[in-house]
Amino acid sequence: MPEPDPHSLWIDDHDPQNARVSWQAYFWTGNNGNRKAWAVAILRRLGRCTWRCRWCRDDLPAYLRADALYCRESCRKQAARKRRAARSECAGSEWAKRPPHIA
Ligand SMILES: [Zn+2]
Repeated sequence: MPEPDPHSLWIDDHDPQNARVSWQAYFWTGNNGNRKAWAVAILRRLGRCTWRCRWCRDDLPAYLRADALYCRESCRKQAARKRRAARSECAGSEWAKRPPHIA
């Protein structure tokens, strides 16, 4: 599935109390369709203060999908490395070596 046109939607105001997102209708059609849904989803996340990168806490750029969690690939990778390291620490602990029926 092709990604959305990066210049068709923009965030006018990031303030959660007064967030504003604008979009351009599809060329020659005047049809707002998916872009309106995309704008509303971003607007909801701006209102909930979740339109931020989960790693670096920067505001996410407007061209990302509405369900994006990280601002760029490097943030996603660093978060994955940290999760993996935490998981391997638990796997090596005494707690993980016990049989599952002993709490
Ligand atoms: Zn980031």
